[in-house]
Formats: sequence, C-alpha cells, structure tokens
Amino acid sequence: MQNFHDKKFLVTAGPTQEAIDPVRFISNHSTGKMGYAVAAELASRGAEVVLVSGPTQLSVPEGVMRVDVVSADDMYRECTRLWPSMTGAVMCAAVADFTPAKVSDVKIKSKNVTLELKPTRDIAAELGKAKRPDQILVGFALETDNEQANAIAKLGRKNLDLIVLNSLRDPGAGFGCDTNRITIFSRDGSPAAYPLETKQQAAVHIVDHILHHPLLV
Ligand code: C5P
Repeated sequence: MQNFHDKKFLVTAGPTQEAIDPVRFISNHSTGKMGYAVAAELASRGAEVVLVSGPTQLSVPEGVMRVDVVSADDMYRECTRLWPSMTGAVMCAAVADFTPAKVSDVKIKSKNVTLELKPTRDIAAELGKAKRPDQILVGFALETDNEQANAIAKLGRKNLDLIVLNSLRDPGAGFGCDTNRITIFSRDGSPAAYPLETKQQAAVHIVDHILHHPLLV
C-alpha cells in the first residue's frame, strides 16, 4: 500500500570516514544495512527517499536516490541542505564522533605520531534544532549500558520524535549482522519492544511507527 505518497524522507546510513592523511582514516564497523533497509521500506510504501550514505558495499535500493558522502562534515552539509524540503528524516548513520583536527597533505611517517582530534557536529541534533512542527525526526541509539535511560535522554536532547534502541549486548544485533533487536521509544506512550528479527522486518516496524505517528496522521 502506498501510504507515503507525496512524502519525502531523508535517511542517513553507514559509517563516515575521517581522513588522517592521504592513505589513512578513522571509521567504525557500520555496514549501512539498517539504514538501507529503512530507505527501501519507505520507498516501497511510496515515499520519495534520499539516502545520504557513507562508504558501504551495498547497492542502492529500488526507487531510492543516493547521495554519497565520506566524512561527517560532508554528511552534515548534505543533510542540512536537504532537511527543509523533507517530511521527515531517519538518522541511521554511525557518524564518527571525532575527526582529526588537521588532515596531513602527505603520508605521516613518524612512528610516534600523536593524533589530535576534534569533535564532529551532531547532525541529528542540528536537524532537531531546525525541525518544523510538521516534520518528524527519528534517531537511533546503540548503547552498551543504561540502555533505556540513555535512549530516552537522547530523544529529548536531540529533539527527536522517535528513537530506535538497539543493544550491542544482544548476540545477532547491531553492526554487520543481518538481524537486529529493537525497541522504539516515542515522546509519549510506552516503548514497543520487538524480538530478534531481520533488519528488513525491523525496518517494517520502524516505518509503521512513523506512519502511525500523530504528526503524519
Ligand atoms: O549520540 P549518539 O551518537 O549515540 O546518537 C545516535 C544518533 O544520532 C543516531 O541517530 C545517529 O545517526 C545520530 N548522530 C548524528 N550525528 C552525529 C552523531 C550521531 O546524526 N555526529
């Protein structure tokens, strides 16, 4: 059923890569699978989807427009440019929290090099600040401790409407796996917890929550 006809969604996915010098970078284990599954599910329900993706091995889902980015800064620029024209955004990317304070033009040779880092900008929080009352913003939380409390705090701090918690403690959930175990929190209402399921099934649940959110009905 084409429930998202005339709706435009931004989805972020994958890791970012933060250059140290021409041959090295800082990144993480994200494969982008969860974000690509969400983008595919939204598109299959009739939404116009722009997928802002860090480097992944995945192919573009049918009906989705992909914008390729490398660094957290690139992702920030694309997302803030696109956000005003969107109905909503689902922030699945594992954005690097730190980036080298300066990028060397040449390969760093010293054995004892110290790397100075600076924090990146929080893209979800920036979209949250700029959010209009008719836009819906969904984030993810990957927690190792105090999962529920941290997820709920993030929902408020980043001005999100929904947050999807997945725990690294669950075997079969999180980075690289084809399965995930999610709990979805909204600002009001009790959390919805799902069993271990494929990332495609998790995407169906996430998209159902967006569809039934009071902002969209
Ligand atoms: O604070 P934390 O990284 O745990 O927040 C996770 C959520 O925030 C995810 O939705 C992630 O995509 C988003 N995020 C972001 N930009 C960052 C860091 C996180 O959009 N720099």
